[in-house]
Amino acid sequence: HQRVFSGMQPTSTLHLGNYLGALTNWVAMQETHECIYCVVDMHAITQGLDVWGGPAELTRATREVTAAYVAAGVDPQRSIIFNQSQVPQHAELAWIFNTVARLGWLNRMTQFKEKAGKDRENASVGLYDYPVLMAADILLYKATHVPVGEDQKQHLELTRDIAQKFNNDFGAQIAQKGLGTGELGFFPQPEPMIQGPAPRVMSLRDGTKKMSKSDASDNSRINLTDDAETIAQKIRKAKTDPDALPSEEKGLEGRPEAENLVGIYAGLNGQTKAQVLAQFGGGQFSGFKAALVDLAVAKLAPIAGEMRRLLADVSHIDGILGAGAERAEAIAAPIMRDVKDIVGFVRRG
Ligand code: ATP
Ligand code: MG
Repeated sequence: HQRVFSGMQPTSTLHLGNYLGALTNWVAMQETHECIYCVVDMHAITQGLDVWGGPAELTRATREVTAAYVAAGVDPQRSIIFNQSQVPQHAELAWIFNTVARLGWLNRMTQFKEKAGKDRENASVGLYDYPVLMAADILLYKATHVPVGEDQKQHLELTRDIAQKFNNDFGAQIAQKGLGTGELGFFPQPEPMIQGPAPRVMSLRDGTKKMSKSDASDNSRINLTDDAETIAQKIRKAKTDPDALPSEEKGLEGRPEAENLVGIYAGLNGQTKAQVLAQFGGGQFSGFKAALVDLAVAKLAPIAGEMRRLLADVSHIDGILGAGAERAEAIAAPIMRDVKDIVGFVRRG
């Protein structure tokens, strides 16, 4: 039985990295898997208030991210779409996992180091604990597959470590209560699926940094809701080098900005980088950028239009999240009850 879990933070509007690195996979996986797609509002508030923007912005962004899922092709009838805070078991399981995960494991997490920056003493405890909550998100549903961008690989490895340590630490209880599945124990080892058309989209301003919602510069990313003029301006301003485009992929080595733009074109057009270079190699960036603007506008404008249509009816969006939360909790609650029995917590009924 194969179950998919993945999520995005409502820290602000989704961007091209979220779309090419994760969302396009999510849509495709509906054909073959049972899919649970979460708007992870409890993760969003781990960053500084200035990053997530405060309560009103969190509410707005939660609905907007939901609309983006649906507009991109996630079907709320087939897949489960909900926001994390409506299913309290995420926090409950995260607490138990806090006692399973080791400080040394979390100390190695590069995302925390990047996001905390120099002022680490002033980062929230939640930001440090983010990967533990993420492990709970996934394992609460015993998900087997997790489609994410490349930046989440390390967190997925931590999730697997937590699952394994829980299975080991409580092996006797799991066996005694007959709650193990196969040789694995109670929790499965979830597989990361890092395979979108562009699993690592980089910032338009710096080809060595990933495109991010929390980057202070809006020019660093293309948002799913940007209009044609904004997309054109951002791509025109995107950092490049002075050389012409190479004709072969190995010519992109050491040219991160060029590689990124070619990768974005390839991702949006369902091509390989080699195919894109076969067409544009030898030409200047100005011509290539113009073609990229046309392609990005053609692909993203329909999604933005559908998002606007969906967001005009907030009660419909909230209805999707509420119905999804009920379906999610129906899966999560019995698994959480088993976890409490395994740990030895006394509970009613
Ligand atoms: P934040 O900066 O607040 O962390 P984010 O842009 O990283 O925002 P997330 O909500 O953290 O977005 O991630 C949602 C999904 O999008 C994850 O699967 C993540 O791996 C993927 N993703 C994020 N950025 C990129 C990127 N630049 N390229 C490919 N995938 C990405
Ligand atoms: Mg992120």
